[in-house]
Amino acid sequence: MRIFSGIQPTGQKHLGNYIGAIRQYVDSQDRGDPAIYCIVDLHALTVPWDPATLRESVYDTTAILLAAGLDPERCILFRQSDVREHTELTWYLAALTAHGDLNRMTQFKDKSAKQRELVSAGLFFYPVLMAADVLAYRGQEVPVGHDQLQHVELMREIARRFNERFGEVLVVPEARIPEVGARIMDLQEPTSKMSTTGGTEAGTVLVLDEPKTLTKKVKSAVTDSGSEVRRGEGKEGIANLIAILAVARGSSEEEIEREFEGSGYGDFKGAVAEAVVELLTPVRERYEELRPDEAGLERVLSAGAEKAREIASGTLAEVRSTIGVGPA
Ligand code: ATP
Ligand code: MG
Repeated sequence: MRIFSGIQPTGQKHLGNYIGAIRQYVDSQDRGDPAIYCIVDLHALTVPWDPATLRESVYDTTAILLAAGLDPERCILFRQSDVREHTELTWYLAALTAHGDLNRMTQFKDKSAKQRELVSAGLFFYPVLMAADVLAYRGQEVPVGHDQLQHVELMREIARRFNERFGEVLVVPEARIPEVGARIMDLQEPTSKMSTTGGTEAGTVLVLDEPKTLTKKVKSAVTDSGSEVRRGEGKEGIANLIAILAVARGSSEEEIEREFEGSGYGDFKGAVAEAVVELLTPVRERYEELRPDEAGLERVLSAGAEKAREIASGTLAEVRSTIGVGPA
């Protein structure tokens, strides 16, 4: 199974990224043939950025992924901008992408509404670049959180359209969404997803938060005026904590509901806080060992880019030749 997924180096990664994406990456490395994971710095240019911070953030994210358990011997880990085939394929795919489809993307609507100065065409084009990321490797499976389903649907549509027009050159990929935790919500605004760029500070649990901060954030999570630890209407806050605890413990949401039947929210939140600290502390500790060695991180990324380029350049040669670009 050829697996491909990308993660943005914007800001610091959070519990939603960890549960929805990173955990799946780690679990899938041996199933992947290969498993390819990309730090998508070009996607980060779709909202305002600072050049020096961007470069630093790529190392932050690389170190987080390695700390979480990615092993460059068992997967391909690289930086998107090191492989120029992504941008080239973006242009070819743009020619087959319906403007109206891009206009319907909810991520574009959400993120463009939040921009104060410039809603860039890059933000609008985000899903085309994402389609190029996966299709350049003929990825079959795309591990993502729930918010990316719509973009994966669109890349499937683009691949199908390409193949209908030019023959079976591209692979139509499938999303892989975790059963529990595909959409971790902001702890302060449990009706919107936890997000790197859009959420509240107190409601965003960072992978690198210290135990004290983790505990404080979880214990001040917004709940409801009821008292039952169960999922249900108007109980988004509690449902979110149930999902988090289920994932952290490796159990099911039903089991968590049964265990906390009759308990108060205070006890329940205490248990969630403890489990989150246990889940993230080893990652933060390994991160602190890995992060200072930027030369080492750079070596990992460039070795990954070399392997990635080998695959992507093959696809691009075939794409160019079938669409009539360049010499025969
Ligand atoms: P932004 O809000 O700026 O888009 P992000 O938090 O979504 O940032 P990304 O790097 O875009 O971070 O996403 C990386 C992966 O994490 C994607 O597969 C995405 O679906 C997943 N993901 C993001 N937020 C959540 C969430 N709240 N719950 C579960 N998965 C998530
Ligand atoms: Mg995102």
